[in-house]
Amino acid sequence: MVNLIAAGEVIERPASVVKELVENSIDAGATSLTVTIEDGGRKLISVSDNGNGMDADDLANAFEPHATSKVKEADDLNRIATLGFRGEALASIASVAQVRAVTRMAGSDQAHCIEIDCGDKGPVTPCSGDVGTTIQVRDLFYKTPARRKFLRTANTELGHVTEQFSRIALPQCNLDLALIHNGRELYRLSKTESLKERVGQLFPMLVSGTGDDLIETETREKGIRIRALLGLPGLSRTSNQFQYAFVNGRFIRDKFISHAIKEAYRGMLDANRFPVVFLFIEMPFSEYDVNVHPTKIEVRFYNSNLIHSQVLGVLRERLLGTNLNIAAQLPAREMPPQNEESADREQRRQQIADAMAEFFRKQRPVHQQQQFDLRAESVPGRREPEYRRTAIERPGPASSSFQAPPPDSKYLQIHDSYIIEQTDEGFVIIDQHALHERMLYEIMRRRLDRESLESQRLLLPESFEVTEAQAGAIDNHADMLTQLGIELTPFGPRTYAIQTFPTMLGNVSPLEFVHDLLDLLVERGDAMAKRDLFDDILNMAACKAAIKAGQRLTDSEIRQLLADRERFESTSRCPHGRPTTIRFSISELEKQFKRT
Ligand code: ADP
Ligand code: MG
Repeated sequence: MVNLIAAGEVIERPASVVKELVENSIDAGATSLTVTIEDGGRKLISVSDNGNGMDADDLANAFEPHATSKVKEADDLNRIATLGFRGEALASIASVAQVRAVTRMAGSDQAHCIEIDCGDKGPVTPCSGDVGTTIQVRDLFYKTPARRKFLRTANTELGHVTEQFSRIALPQCNLDLALIHNGRELYRLSKTESLKERVGQLFPMLVSGTGDDLIETETREKGIRIRALLGLPGLSRTSNQFQYAFVNGRFIRDKFISHAIKEAYRGMLDANRFPVVFLFIEMPFSEYDVNVHPTKIEVRFYNSNLIHSQVLGVLRERLLGTNLNIAAQLPAREMPPQNEESADREQRRQQIADAMAEFFRKQRPVHQQQQFDLRAESVPGRREPEYRRTAIERPGPASSSFQAPPPDSKYLQIHDSYIIEQTDEGFVIIDQHALHERMLYEIMRRRLDRESLESQRLLLPESFEVTEAQAGAIDNHADMLTQLGIELTPFGPRTYAIQTFPTMLGNVSPLEFVHDLLDLLVERGDAMAKRDLFDDILNMAACKAAIKAGQRLTDSEIRQLLADRERFESTSRCPHGRPTTIRFSISELEKQFKRT
């Protein structure tokens, strides 16, 4: 009974068995192991390792409840260095499946085996076998139909197994690992020195191409070593499935760490996007407790604030220090032989042009294009907002020295949407909307960290009707509205009037903005943390107030934009995580033109 109850906590599905068996192999010092499963693990789970193995006595004991070789005295519990220590995994597994274990110690010429059928233990007998241990688990839960019923399809269970496999493989770079399903090899990972290589072995889609979208960083401070692989904002996902945190090789979920990751990317990503992050933390075993959760997926840090600030610090520093500009890669195409006549040169030019066109087709953000089209069609004759009207407020005294680009700087606007600028290394292409949006966002964010947005009183208050929910939202978020510089006053039954409006949004229609703002507040206002909500609002405001794609700029407007850009460190991404600037190097061009 005790085992069955423990099994209920520890063994939920085939993936839990894989986790426990593989952890045991690692604790046994294995350098190579193979996981073989059939039918998503429902039929068979087998883990074979080349670890220390067990002698006949230990093998007989290993399946007893609370039998562990990893804790010798109570004090050991305060410094758990092994993945397992509770001594309940093998006993639990053997109580709900058919198990066969074969094991041989290094230096012994005899292997031993044992079979257990749902808790019914057979004798230990000599047999043949390699050094190491193989444990086979068949027909999980076959005598407990109520539990068996909860197993999902082979595919779903396989998904869970692969996830467990990844959680083990990521921090154990020095391990050769294989996963085989129904006779097919799904993974074969050779040991490697490089975290990035291991990530690439498991998740090729994250490092396809140059792999430059994942950057590495490392610190060792205050007794905590942190290594991390960070996805650039462009690699972000719609869920946190690519956020992995490990403490001393153990996969954990921790709300402090998740929060620190989120904070580190603040302002670089939309609120509903999740960055890709692999975090490997090493710290003294005595600084946290792993004995708080049966599957040890949660730990208790004695100083969680320190963990939070260390993680946030190392990630943020690396991200801010990274040039998030995208380096353009012209496709390497086969070029015609050199020294040929002008027909060939013409063909080459055509190839370059094709490459550029292709490049633009891929890079041009679709939604921006639509936005432009919409405006052009649905608001004919609408006064073209002038960039100067939202010209950037100087964020602080330090930046008051206005730096115009040198008079001989070369730039050009194309398709009324992109600005091409010559740089020392080559040239850059700037997405005018994305860049301006990014800057507006930064200014408002900085300003709001200190005070409220500057506002202007409307000459004629604009009135609008509200729903019950919207009226509620106006009440609930009165402070926030004040901070944004928006004053709404009741103007009759279910009617409000806009009295003041932020100066920075001078070219945005107040009615339209307040409308969208109320929608946002009604929809998400109560569910989100205040700072996140502000973030969403600022994103929306920046997007609306920014220069549009398709808007022709005068020379001085372009110069203003380029000059303003100089004052922002992190302008290379718009708040939605899209790039604002793409670099082309002259050497890349020279290669394409066969000049080198
Ligand atoms: P725990 O891992 O918490 O000690 P388990 O029930 O998982 O408890 O395992 C019980 C014991 O069996 C371990 O302490 C270890 O001594 C032994 N053992 C289990 N798997 C292996 C293995 N693959 N190689 C060598 N010894 C093993
Ligand atoms: Mg164990």
